[in-house]
Amino acid sequence: MALDIGRHQLEREVRAARDAGRATPSVIIVGGGLSGLAMGMQLVRSGVGDFTILERSDGVGGTWRDNTYPGSGCDVPSHLYSFSFFPKSNWTRRFAEQPEILSYAEQCVERFGLGPHLRLGTTVRRATFDRDTRRWRLLVTSSAGDETLESDTVVFACGQLNRPHVPALEGMESFAGPSWHSARWDHGCELSGRRVAVVGSGASAIQFVPPVAAEAGALTIFQRSPNYVGPKKDRAYSAWGRRLFDAVSPVERAYRWWIYLSLEVRWLWFRKDSWAGRKLAELFRSGISQEVVSDRLPEASVVPDYPIGCKRILISNDWYPALMRPNVSVVDQAISHVEADAVVTADGQRHLTDVLIFGTGFSTTDFLSHIPVTGADGRSLAETWREGARAYLGVAVPGFPNCYLLYGPNTNLGHNSILFMVERQMNLILQAMAVQTRATTDETPPLVGVNADAYRRDDERTQRLMQRTAWVANCRSWYKAATGRVTNNWPTWTFRYWYDTLRLRPSDVGLTAPTWTDPSPAHRPPARYEPAPTHGPTDEHPVAPATR
Ligand code: NAP
Repeated sequence: MALDIGRHQLEREVRAARDAGRATPSVIIVGGGLSGLAMGMQLVRSGVGDFTILERSDGVGGTWRDNTYPGSGCDVPSHLYSFSFFPKSNWTRRFAEQPEILSYAEQCVERFGLGPHLRLGTTVRRATFDRDTRRWRLLVTSSAGDETLESDTVVFACGQLNRPHVPALEGMESFAGPSWHSARWDHGCELSGRRVAVVGSGASAIQFVPPVAAEAGALTIFQRSPNYVGPKKDRAYSAWGRRLFDAVSPVERAYRWWIYLSLEVRWLWFRKDSWAGRKLAELFRSGISQEVVSDRLPEASVVPDYPIGCKRILISNDWYPALMRPNVSVVDQAISHVEADAVVTADGQRHLTDVLIFGTGFSTTDFLSHIPVTGADGRSLAETWREGARAYLGVAVPGFPNCYLLYGPNTNLGHNSILFMVERQMNLILQAMAVQTRATTDETPPLVGVNADAYRRDDERTQRLMQRTAWVANCRSWYKAATGRVTNNWPTWTFRYWYDTLRLRPSDVGLTAPTWTDPSPAHRPPARYEPAPTHGPTDEHPVAPATR
C-alpha cells in the first residue's frame, strides 16, 4: 500500500533477518506523546520487538496529558486526529475535548500492547553516539536513580509544545496568590468570586478564558496582541452517526478524506498576500466591527494589525462573548511588574489580582536543547543548530546516524492535522530502519544517515518556500526564532510533504561511512558523557550507495 511503504519494507526486512538468524536493530523512542506512541505502534506492526519508549511523566499522551485546563480541546476535526492505521470512528463530537483525546492515546497503548515497552517516570538527561560500539547511549534518571541505556537507533518524539514558557516578570516572586501556567493547571484552586488575571490571549487562553470568566468574580486579560478568531463549527455526533462511522469503515474513511481536503484548501490563506487570505481578513474585520467592537472593546483590542495567517488562526464560539462579559476586561498595556496583590502595567495602573494564570505558550524554537545530544563527530545538536534548528524533511541531521526526529523542525502546520505529518515522517524513518535492518550483521553495526548536501538543499528549499508564506510577515509568533527564521512550520501544501516523504531517496539517506576519520588517541571520542570538544562544522558525510 503506497501510504505505508516504510512499514511494509521494515516488516519484510525484520522477517528476513529472523529467518536468517540475524539480529534486528534495537530502538529507543524518547517521548510518550502521540508521536512516540505512533512510532511504537508502527514498530509493533513491523514485527520489531526490541524497543523502549521513555516518558518523563507518569502517563502517556504528551500535550494531551499536560493540558487539562478547562475547555482544553483540539481545533482540528476529531476524525483527522487519529492515526490512519488505528482510526477512531466513535468520536463524540466534531472537535474532541482533551479527555477523549487522552483516552485515545491510552487505547493506542492497550490495542498495540505498548505497555511492556513503556518506561514512565524516566527522564533522558543526555544522548551520545558511541563511536566504539556504534550505538546510542542514553543517560536516564528515574526513581531508581541514574542509568545508561543503549540502542542501535534513537527516535526523539519530544514534540514542539512541551516546555511551558513563563515570562520573567519583575516582582513575580512577591506575588502572594497562586499562579500557574495553562499546561500545569491547578485544579484545586477555587476561582469562584476571585480576581483572576490571565497573561496571554493565544490558542490556549481562548479556550480556558470563557469557563474561567464564568466562574471568577473579575477577570483581567493582559493581551500583547489580538488574534484572528473565527467561529468553531462544533457539534456532538448523534448516536446514529457514530454507529454508522463505526460499522461502515468506508464511510469513516471518506469522511477523513473530506476533512483532509477541506482543510488542505485552507493553505491558500497562509500564502503571503494571498487573495484568499485578504478576503478572509476582510470578512473577519466586518464581522467583528458589527458584533464586538464597542467602547469597552475598541478595535485595537480585537482586530490584529498583522496579516492573517502570520499566527495560528484560532476558532472559538465563546471567546468574544467572554470578552463582552461585564466582569471581564482586556488590558493592552504592557506589564511593568507584579506586586503582592496586583499586576502593574506600564501606564502605572494597578490591577488587583488574587490568582495569576499564564497562557503564555511554550519554548518552541530550540527543539531538543533540553537534552544534550552528541553525534558521531563529537558535535552536539545545539552546535549544529547554532543558526537555527533544521532537519532533512524534519527527521534527520547529518552526523547523527541512526537518529531521527518526529514533529521536528519545519513540520508544524497551521491548516491541517499534525498527525498526518507524523505519519509521513514515520514512513521515511521506517524505510531508513529497513535499510539498517537489512545491513545488520553480527559484526559492525551499520550506520544510516542523511548526507550533508541533501540536508543543505532541503533546508534551502524550505526557507525559500517560507518566504512565500504569511509566517514571515511582521508579527511575533512561536514559529519564529529570535533571528526571524521560521523554524517550526512546513512552508507549503501537505501533499507536497506526502510526496517528498513517500520514498527514501538513496542519494539523500542511506548507509553511510563513519564520519570520524582519525582513530588515533588524540582524536578518540571524548570520555562518555563528558562535554564534547568543539569540532568545526563538517560538511563531508560520505554516503555509500544504499544496499538496494
Ligand atoms: P500561544 O498561542 O503562543 O500564545 C501565547 C500568548 O501569550 C500570546 O497571546 C502571546 O502574545 C502571549 N505572551 C507570550 N509571552 C508574553 C509576555 N512576555 N508578555 C505578555 N504576553 C505574552 O501559546 P498557546 O496559547 O499555549 O498555544 C500554543 C500552540 O499550542 C498553539 O498555537 C497551537 O498550535 C497549540 N494549541 C492547540 C490547541 C488546539 O486546539 N489544537 C489548543 C491550544 C494550543 P503575542 O501573541 O503578542 O506573542
